[in-house]
Amino acid sequence: MVLTALPSPPEERRLALVPSAIKRLVALEHEVRLGAGYGAPLHLSDDALAEAGATIVPAESALDGAEIVLVVTPPAPEALAGMPKGTFVVGFLDPFFALPTVRALADGGLRGMCVELMPRSTYAQKMDALSSQASLAGYVAVVLAAERIDKVLPMMSTPAGTIPPARVFVVGVGVAGLQAIATAKRLGARVEAYDTRPSVAEQVRSLGARFVAFDLGGEQGETEQGYARALTDEQLARQREQMAKVVAQSDVVITTAQVFGRSAPRILDAAAIAGMKPGSVVVDLAAATGGNVEGTVAGEEIVTDGGVRIIGLHPLPASVARDASAMYAANLTFLIEHAWVEGALKPASEDDVVDAVLLTDDGAVRYEAVRAQMEASA
Ligand code: NAD
Repeated sequence: MVLTALPSPPEERRLALVPSAIKRLVALEHEVRLGAGYGAPLHLSDDALAEAGATIVPAESALDGAEIVLVVTPPAPEALAGMPKGTFVVGFLDPFFALPTVRALADGGLRGMCVELMPRSTYAQKMDALSSQASLAGYVAVVLAAERIDKVLPMMSTPAGTIPPARVFVVGVGVAGLQAIATAKRLGARVEAYDTRPSVAEQVRSLGARFVAFDLGGEQGETEQGYARALTDEQLARQREQMAKVVAQSDVVITTAQVFGRSAPRILDAAAIAGMKPGSVVVDLAAATGGNVEGTVAGEEIVTDGGVRIIGLHPLPASVARDASAMYAANLTFLIEHAWVEGALKPASEDDVVDAVLLTDDGAVRYEAVRAQMEASA
């Protein structure tokens, strides 16, 4: 197959292909063509990419003849316009929110392979880009908070006195939350965590943190895919009320709560933020899908009148773009290695991974929940 990768938008430093992934794809007998300057965001020269096995072509002809196009973010519909029918577009396609892109993929007869829809099986873990990037986001959230807050994270005993450890509260213990807990513990903070899925309590404790339980009433827990069930409005209100007390004692709060395919649940309201000490820091990892925190501004950091800093910067993995790109490129390469046999995509009817990630095919959107979202927004 002939593969290329679209250049990332200026604010996004991650790439879909790096030299290690190019070498692997070339060894699998794919041809990798990249536009001149593709590696610039990571200071990778054309020579370095060519040495790994890519053919460097003028940037404006990178798409010519490409059968598979890799992306980091959903391409704008205009970027898809010239692609021939049947071209595969592989990567983050943000299926529930980037609806114009999904529509353009279907209308253009393109085959969008959406990594957000990867099954959460042990086998698929190496292809799971949501997880690889969430893990980095959890790490960056803590490092960012440690840099912004006006105190140290570990306990320090000095001749001038003893400084107590910072209290870090992590809300949502999925992949990002677990990494945030581990990072905050490594930096010496006193860490507490909470999730609506009680099954994570053991994982929290195994990292040396305290699991905080709240009484919400009604049904909670997780779906068969391992994702959180959405709470009712009443449960969310009870959660906010009980959580405010823990939040008031915390120096750093990191929220990572997501419900697959929906806007992020509102976890902290303005009253809870007002109860925090001035100088405290909140990092809202759900900023891009509406935010877990009242007052979060996506893409920005703000300081409230009460002196609490709310960080809504995203995507946080872009700030560790070298590692994030290496992991993302590896995820995509494993997917290509898995899904294509002798130049042909495995039939969706015969392969769980292809069946799950193939979002558009033959002019149609294959995923019921995405179709429903498109109809609702039409
Ligand atoms: P996610 O990004 O969908 O959500 C983050 C966390 O927020 C989840 O733990 C969720 O339970 C929690 N949450 C949702 N609503 C909440 C609320 N109102 N209050 C508090 N917390 C709330 O989650 P994720 O990182 O994708 O992980 C989901 C699960 O899937 C985890 O158990 C994870 O370990 C598992 N997983 C498995 C695989 C695999 O086997 N291949 C891969 C990735 C994740």
